[in-house]
Amino acid sequence: MRKPIIVGNWKLNKTISEAVEFITAVEPLLHDDADFGVATSYLALQASVQNARRLIIAAQNVNENDSGAFTGEVSVGMLKEVGVKWVVLGHSERRQYFNETDASVNAKTLKAVANGLTPIVCVGETLAEFEAGETEAVVRRQTKAALSSLNPEDVANLVIAYEPVWAIGTGKNATKEIAQNVCALVRDEVKVNFGVDAADKVRIQYGGSVKPENIKEYLSEADVDGALIGGASLKVDSFKAIIDAVKA
Ligand code: PEP
Repeated sequence: MRKPIIVGNWKLNKTISEAVEFITAVEPLLHDDADFGVATSYLALQASVQNARRLIIAAQNVNENDSGAFTGEVSVGMLKEVGVKWVVLGHSERRQYFNETDASVNAKTLKAVANGLTPIVCVGETLAEFEAGETEAVVRRQTKAALSSLNPEDVANLVIAYEPVWAIGTGKNATKEIAQNVCALVRDEVKVNFGVDAADKVRIQYGGSVKPENIKEYLSEADVDGALIGGASLKVDSFKAIIDAVKA
């Protein structure tokens, strides 16, 4: 039985004090029926880790190099020093605006795993790809590429987020049937490359306009093990409603 995992992706939102205020407000509401987390800005990570007890605190990215002439970047060593154990990788906004490729997402995933960080690896097709019927080919390619050269045990312990780009921040969430079908394809791709055990254990989230009103229907699907949530994770009230909604 896979434990659901619900993670808020705050993107370019929340100062340090806003992050701490949010975390302080939601910590007492968390329960054991799911794992919960938020991905904060780099700047808010240290204070967030210090103020979180049960909430997972994730970075939104990491550089694949240990050090060097990479202006503006942050390394796994820097994340680990402030107590961060999780990192979101390959989000479609990073692929779209910051030129991240399957190869760079793979390099970051390998670096994170080798250093004991748990990645949440994002995959998902664009609207044009969806309309062209290319969803399966795209998510299989992205999944295989992102996880290339990992061990089955490492794959079993990480999280994959299926996020159709056309559903992110648009209010046009995928139906639960689409979410289920594509999460099942992702799981099958894991099985093909890493075996049944890794496929059974890896947790696969759906992401794209998830809110308190629809989260339960996604979680009722067999291959959807949680959600990566942007907009609805920003306000304590809606995150609280999501926490309550996923109580078994
Ligand atoms: C996201 O940022 O990963 C996301 C799914 O955003 P939203 O929930 O706002 O669609």
